[in-house]
Amino acid sequence: MKNATQHQMFKEIEEKKIFEQSQAYAFEYLDNIFDRNVYPTEAALANLPKFEEDFPEHSTAPYKILEQLHRYGSPATNATMGGRYFGFVNGSALPIGLAAKTLASFWDQCPAMHVLSPIGSQLESVVEKWLIHLFNLPKESCAGFVSGTSMANLSSLAAARCRILKNNNWDISKKGLYNAPKIRIVTGQHAHSTILKSIGMLGLGQDNIEWVEVDEQGRIIPELMPELDKNTLLILQAGNVNSGSFDDFKTICKKANKANAWVHIDSAFGLWAAAAGPLKYLTEGIELADSWAVDGHKTLNTPYDCGIVLCKDKEAMVEALHMTGSYIIRSEQRDGMLYTPEMSRRARIIELWAIIKYLGKTGIDNLILTMHQRAKQFGEEIGQLKGFQVENDIVFNQVLVRCENDRITETVLANIQKDRVCWLGGAVWHHKKVIRVSVCSWATTEKDISLSVDSFKRALDKSISES
Ligand SMILES: *Cc1c(COP(=O)(O)O)cnc(C)c1O
Repeated sequence: MKNATQHQMFKEIEEKKIFEQSQAYAFEYLDNIFDRNVYPTEAALANLPKFEEDFPEHSTAPYKILEQLHRYGSPATNATMGGRYFGFVNGSALPIGLAAKTLASFWDQCPAMHVLSPIGSQLESVVEKWLIHLFNLPKESCAGFVSGTSMANLSSLAAARCRILKNNNWDISKKGLYNAPKIRIVTGQHAHSTILKSIGMLGLGQDNIEWVEVDEQGRIIPELMPELDKNTLLILQAGNVNSGSFDDFKTICKKANKANAWVHIDSAFGLWAAAAGPLKYLTEGIELADSWAVDGHKTLNTPYDCGIVLCKDKEAMVEALHMTGSYIIRSEQRDGMLYTPEMSRRARIIELWAIIKYLGKTGIDNLILTMHQRAKQFGEEIGQLKGFQVENDIVFNQVLVRCENDRITETVLANIQKDRVCWLGGAVWHHKKVIRVSVCSWATTEKDISLSVDSFKRALDKSISES
């Protein structure tokens, strides 16, 4: 006997009407995604309180739920799927990724263990090999598929902590950090805040960081590095979150390798430069590190959420993240949870696999290079406008723009955001306010850049006329 609700749900599966409805909405959403306002309109935002309902006592018809989502939800999204969202370092999603994810949604797999998802496990081991090949990392490296670089950084630093202490005959999992030998942490002044968060979460203490001074692009100055030793955890960066600059890995890693220090590279969006011929020079020497954290959902344009942790020291990685239990079924094949903090997680590998297979080496090269060229175009067009100045070397996908003073920069940024032709945020760069452009979408065309630069110009004109 099925109860009434079960009966209803079996019917939904059988009839598929709700899936057709959601697909129709999705297609409608995509139909104007490249032309619509990038940030939601005031009217769309004003509708958000419609979701402020009391906890539902009774069931709502599925078609009504989807209708509400589409009517009030779709217009209240940022058009990150289009080509003029330059906020944060926020990628778009490639069509094949969305399509593969849609199919995978119906599978609803959890690749914690091989027995839990043979296909998820299979694809994870294939993509692990592909990525090691693509980035030219040490053959023995392993990969964990996590939610983003925040988790990838945390996992890497956990592995480093485990290894450094183990080399001191200290089992971190059992003994904890009380009375443990001290781990030195060395990183650049521009380390991403998720690095600081990880150091805090791992009990290593942010006050213990030995900060290294950076140059005007935000790169560690190698000559100013302290002496390293075998108890040092050195954290470098491929892609400064503001300027997009890369540390000098070759010089720094050679030093670190000699001292037997652990090197981690936070390469959330920058590691992909290793896959783009003319930009490969930026990542020279990355293979000399011990661990790397990278996102799929930024530069590669996988759907959210997709992060990857790569680690040369598989033993330390597994030891730092493993768990046990009488119900755990270890297999001969890959058990994904050995390389991630989570046990259950969605099989994000499906989209990642589909996108890599779709693009191939040449497609990835092309994707990354085009983003770089659009960023250059942005810099060139904005540089020709009176009243704007580009503040960084555009080596990758990031452009930092400034007006005459902080006050004007802030007003202009607010005007651009209100204009909604594009969307981007601000930052502080060497004590000055800047507008931060991150070109991170496969869909950004030359025209998108020009339209956005026009919006910059209008915003400046408006700020002058109003002041
Ligand atoms: C985005 C970013 C992170 C955090 O990655 P999430 O995927 O948002 O968790 C870490 N480091 C750098 C350099 C980043 O750009």
